[in-house]
Amino acid sequence: MGDLLEYLKSQQNEMLKMLQTLVEIESPSLEKEMNDLLGKKITEIFLSFTGGTMEIIPNQTYGNHLRGRWGQGDHQILLLAHRDTVWQSGDLLTNPFRIEGNKAYGPGIFDMKGGIVQGIYALHTLRHLQINPNCQVVFLITSDEEIGSPSSRQIIEEEAKKSDYVLVLEPPMYDYGALKTARKGVGMYKLKVTGQAAHSGIDHQKGKSAIEELAHQTLYLHKLTDYTIGTTVNVGTVNGGTRGNVVAAEAEAEVDVRVRTQAEFDRIIPLIENIVPAIEGTRIEIEGGINRPPLERTKEVGNMFELARNIGKEKLGIDLVEVETGGASDGNFTAPLAPTLDGLGPVGDGAHAVHEHVLIQDIPVRSALLGYLIEELARQKRHS
Ligand SMILES: [Zn+2]
Repeated sequence: MGDLLEYLKSQQNEMLKMLQTLVEIESPSLEKEMNDLLGKKITEIFLSFTGGTMEIIPNQTYGNHLRGRWGQGDHQILLLAHRDTVWQSGDLLTNPFRIEGNKAYGPGIFDMKGGIVQGIYALHTLRHLQINPNCQVVFLITSDEEIGSPSSRQIIEEEAKKSDYVLVLEPPMYDYGALKTARKGVGMYKLKVTGQAAHSGIDHQKGKSAIEELAHQTLYLHKLTDYTIGTTVNVGTVNGGTRGNVVAAEAEAEVDVRVRTQAEFDRIIPLIENIVPAIEGTRIEIEGGINRPPLERTKEVGNMFELARNIGKEKLGIDLVEVETGGASDGNFTAPLAPTLDGLGPVGDGAHAVHEHVLIQDIPVRSALLGYLIEELARQKRHS
């Protein structure tokens, strides 16, 4: 077996140049043209570096999604990435791609253009060393993850269903690159409370305050938080009333719910959706539901992590750790359909922040991790 790490280390400068190319084509989620331009560049690179094929899945509103295919075999491994960023067009002017010491900076470099480069190089290296894992790799590069994947979710789920394993190239946690073996599920609700308006000086007793009702419900919802089981319920915004001297007829709130397991969703959803007004004469309407299912640390996810940890120890000289996060990714969509290991992107920090950066010398290491993972997982068929 060829040494992936050794080869990738020799390619560090080329990897960095590729990363610069991707960072310097800005790709805000809502800018279709810019996203398509980057998609074109990635397609070009993918074809020439991996020898695979690329299918462009057209999209009316957002950037076209990309479905790369590489290798041949009896089963499928999904590499999952997105190329859109939370940055705006022009942010590159004030926050350009640059190298400072052992770090490379730029919009989207960590979340997650670095992951795309590592993915392409992992496949490139397997090919270069003539390692042919017995699997087909599907490399999805979507364009709307940062806005909740409205147009890519279906494609992601379809491919996850066909896959034995899913590897997500999202950033890891902390400066030691912890992998993500659990992500909380997310529920989103909007509460609309209707009361009865009245002059607060003349007719106060005739009013039914929507604000008072919402205050009751806010306390009720917040009491559903239980850190011991990882459940949080957060009323994140409240709006209501018209003037100081009017009993408020209307109030509304946005609520964010995070849970570790689908079972907890099943328990807590009725407690939210069947909310009962505390004040007679007020009415509550609730809209919303589950936005992303949880990525649960199943036994199979645990096995994937153990495999990664062994590769880290034996072949890369790194000590990988795993963490749970409350933040969601497209890995939440794949997790109920196939075992998913997330956080395989570059080591760095500052996702969605101006100090967003990656650690340069870790780029080849993480790319090698990915290559070895593909090679090993290809041997571990889950079903025929
Ligand atoms: Zn991301």
